[in-house]
This record gives sequence, C-alpha cells and structure tokens, in this order.
Amino acid sequence: MTTGDVTASWCPTCKAHSLLGGEVLVLAPDGVARVSSWRWCEICENPAYPEQEKCCGP
Ligand SMILES: [Zn+2]
Repeated sequence: MTTGDVTASWCPTCKAHSLLGGEVLVLAPDGVARVSSWRWCEICENPAYPEQEKCCGP
C-alpha cells in the first residue's frame, strides 16, 4: 500500500491552509487501485495546537 500525492487545501474549520488530503493506493500487477481517501488538518487534529491554553504551562 502506498499513498498518492498529498495536497493541501483550506480547512473549513480553522480557516487555515493546513488541510492535507490524499488517496490510499494499492499497487496491483495491472495498475494502481484507489482504496480510500483521507483528510487531515494539522491544526484541528494535532494536540500540539490546543484550542485553548491549558492552565498549567510554564
Ligand atoms: Zn483545521
């Protein structure tokens, strides 16, 4: 299994150009089959970017 090209687009949730998307591909003897696609926003779905600062930081 492999991933195709990854493209970035605008995230409708956080309005940042951080929404990555791509396709999951399987290499077959007669070509490439697309199995699914995925989307992932590095801001919305990354715990390193909390929506609110936690109380106990330095
Ligand atoms: Zn987002």
